Amino acid sequence: MSSPKVALVIPAFNETAVLPELFRRLTAIFDTQPGIAWSVILIDDGSRDQTAAMIQTHCAQDQRFRLLALSRNFGFQSALMAGLDHCSEFDAVVTMDADLQDPPEIIPELVAKWQSGGSVVLAVRRTRAESGLRRLGFDLFHRVFSRLVDLPIERNTGTFGLLDKAAVSAFQQLPESHRFFPGLRSWLGFERAEVFYDRKERAAGEPGQSFTRLVRYAFDGIFSFSRLPLRLLTICGVFVATMGFAVGVFFIVRRLMGNEIAQVGFTTLVTLVLFIGGVQLIGIGVLGEYLGRVYDEVKRRPNYIIKQRIGFE
Ligand code: UDP
Ligand code: MG
Repeated sequence: MSSPKVALVIPAFNETAVLPELFRRLTAIFDTQPGIAWSVILIDDGSRDQTAAMIQTHCAQDQRFRLLALSRNFGFQSALMAGLDHCSEFDAVVTMDADLQDPPEIIPELVAKWQSGGSVVLAVRRTRAESGLRRLGFDLFHRVFSRLVDLPIERNTGTFGLLDKAAVSAFQQLPESHRFFPGLRSWLGFERAEVFYDRKERAAGEPGQSFTRLVRYAFDGIFSFSRLPLRLLTICGVFVATMGFAVGVFFIVRRLMGNEIAQVGFTTLVTLVLFIGGVQLIGIGVLGEYLGRVYDEVKRRPNYIIKQRIGFE
């Protein structure tokens, strides 16, 4: 039997600071696993530094490395998608970050779990190195998300993991353009296996995912995997309408029985109007989140544009 072909899909955005170490550590691992035909697909997500050039140089030195350069910065999810779309020839695909927060030393374990029967192997974080506000944000998101969605994503998992051929081809068939990888991976099904690891701080450089990006990513996760916000609006509306009706009946009956209506004060009116107005605006906003996503899907634009391919026949 020929050796299994395993590809690593790694999006990179302004990662010159970590690339040399990434190459070194990956090569070291490949050397310990000669029974596997390794390939690395690095996606340059429109970096503004020398990332693409560095990858290109490395591709020339080592045939196992390939480059997909996108025409501009499309964001992590799209870059990942671009990589997965070029993986049809492989038996298994490992998805990971370039910044070494996902330790490459775990890859052999992922592959071993795949070889013993897992179609989707998840790398599960035992610990997370981030601290402070970022950490709080991640924790809050995961807690809210698991409450909201019908199909929870596995706790403490992120991009890092392995998909076999069948899972990759299923993933390629998903038509939507707002993609939240961990959610979709859990939606796919297939036999699962887990590997545990400790998540590190990024090896060098700055996080390229700005805070607003992460918030948008969180919104994508919630609004494309849950209709609960819409249902909450309906429930809230029914509640307010019922209360309004009851209060209305109460005042009409009092009036008919000849009791004078008490003067409603200015404060009460202002509070009510502002509160109900606010609730309505939130409602329109939530509707807008869904409508905007429908709009994006209807446009059918591709998720990314490839400028250059190196190492692909
Ligand atoms: N990344 C990307 N495009 C972007 C931002 C980030 O491809 O627009 C890559 C980045 O190079 C890294 C991974 O996505 O490999 C995770 O990014 P980062 O470490 O900045 O995010 P965090 O770990 O904070 O989620
Ligand atoms: Mg990172």
